[in-house]
Amino acid sequence: MLAVTFQEPGRVALEERPEPEPLAPDDAVVRVESAGICGSDLHIYHGRVPIAPGFTIGHEYVGTVIAAGDEVTSASVGDRVLGAFHTACGTCFFCRRGVYQKCDDTRVFGHGATLGSLQGTQAEQALVPHANLTLRRVPDGLSDGSALFAGDAMATGYHAVVGAGLEAGDTCAVVGLGPVGLCAVMAARVAGAARVLAIDTVAERLDTARSLGAEPVHATEEDPRAAVKAATEGRGVDVAIDAVGVPSALDLACRIARKAGTVSVVGVYAERIELHMGIVWIKALKLVTGHANVIGHLDSVLALMASGRLDPTPLVTHQMRLDEAPEAYAIYDRREALKIVLSA
Ligand code: NAD
Ligand code: ZN
Ligand code: ZN
Repeated sequence: MLAVTFQEPGRVALEERPEPEPLAPDDAVVRVESAGICGSDLHIYHGRVPIAPGFTIGHEYVGTVIAAGDEVTSASVGDRVLGAFHTACGTCFFCRRGVYQKCDDTRVFGHGATLGSLQGTQAEQALVPHANLTLRRVPDGLSDGSALFAGDAMATGYHAVVGAGLEAGDTCAVVGLGPVGLCAVMAARVAGAARVLAIDTVAERLDTARSLGAEPVHATEEDPRAAVKAATEGRGVDVAIDAVGVPSALDLACRIARKAGTVSVVGVYAERIELHMGIVWIKALKLVTGHANVIGHLDSVLALMASGRLDPTPLVTHQMRLDEAPEAYAIYDRREALKIVLSA
């Protein structure tokens, strides 16, 4: 089968790989019909998250179950499914508390040896461990391009908002308007945020945020701190979300959050960075960080998507073939696309 593999920073390739087979009784194999490219794939593409050359990348996927072990009960061969970007065992200390993303045995698709050596889903087929937790049937009426958001970008945007404890009537600012940030905008609106300020530098992404009901703020041509002050009687927002994963975005999020507010950090950090702890401490900020609990949120997110209350359809800007992945990565890296869906 064909698979998209990391080669070196700035280069991915199409390579032949053996077709996967179920290894454990709760494994499934999915024929991947659509796979997304995510901002997290860009960290790999840039060499910031190191993985071995030749490793299959990608972790957003929709497809059909083509093989399943005896213990897979939540989906059957022939079912159209989507999956979470990570797996969980379901029985460890953390899983028993519902913190699936911190499962002792969690593995993230397409992230190499450091995150569980699980081959990625930008491939014609993918092995899915612990399929009863990882997979869900796609609700009727959802396109592939929409459904694959449930297993990553939408669940992460939802996690950014719900994990921050955003309440109806709160103000929210989202720094970074890639698919994750725009999903956070949608989730904040659905959670009842009174105002959502959306901060980025890419004009099309600011326009999309406006169409989703947010108030766009250009990160450099305008003054985001002044814009937040003006919108909040000088206080700062109740919830500030870093949906980028660079120190300047986290710094901005900490400065625009109100005293005793929450900074929700879904942008990825894999290295030591400098953070002004004095600001965090003096303002008594709450920091919420880490991978999203996608498995924990999957049913709620899918229900909201099936009802149309969360609708990522406008974020799919490009449909391309799997074998166009090298070009797709280059386009996404130039921020000329929002969500690129690769189809085999
Ligand atoms: P993306 O690369 O498409 O979007 C990032 C956006 O941030 C871009 O629009 C860019 O213009 C903007 N940006 C960059 N620097 C900025 C700055 N200083 N101020 C304001 N905006 C800035 O990525 P994405 O797919 O939307 O993902 C966003 C982040 O979330 C990435 O770090 C990704 O790895 C991470 N992520 C985390 C999880 C999780 O489980 N926590 C899940 C999925 C993605
Ligand atoms: Zn992702
Ligand atoms: Zn576990």
